[in-house]
Amino acid sequence: LSVLRSPIKHCRNCGAAVVHRVPDDGDTRERAVCPQCATIHYENPLNVVGTVPHLGDRVLLCKRNIEPRKGKWTLPAGFMELDETTAQGAARETDEEAGAQIEMGPLFSLLNVRRVGQVHLFYRARLLSDQFNPGYETIEARLFTEDEIPWDELAFRTVRETLLRFFADRKAGAFGLHCVDIE
Ligand code: ZN
Repeated sequence: LSVLRSPIKHCRNCGAAVVHRVPDDGDTRERAVCPQCATIHYENPLNVVGTVPHLGDRVLLCKRNIEPRKGKWTLPAGFMELDETTAQGAARETDEEAGAQIEMGPLFSLLNVRRVGQVHLFYRARLLSDQFNPGYETIEARLFTEDEIPWDELAFRTVRETLLRFFADRKAGAFGLHCVDIE
């Protein structure tokens, strides 16, 4: 999830070894350029989409069964797929990782993780049941009150920042949309 992508080594078009240089077309950034077929490989940030599934004063977290951060707790989230919206991706990840029945709510947090080239988006989601059916990516899925959240055992900074704001807004009685730059 939050891992730096390794640089492109081979051309996706013809397989030749690429060179990393600024293309001659007025570009200002170094790209992986193919010396054989002249393909320029543009790399752009990826979207990670997820939910804050809540029931009363409790939030659903999943204990990760996969690397990175295996054994740590996370909100259900993962990379957006082609041919789905951000909300559809968030719902899919919630189903895959927790097997939770939800009613999707509004976007709650947007977090720029510039260092790894990712944008994380979390939607609020109302849980329709406290029964979960986690998939292979999850060791355990359970509900936590604010006091029970394993703050030192969270998998990702974006999960921490989202949870902090969720419980603060809940206390204040009004939910906003939070844009956060993680540096
Ligand atoms: Zn090529």
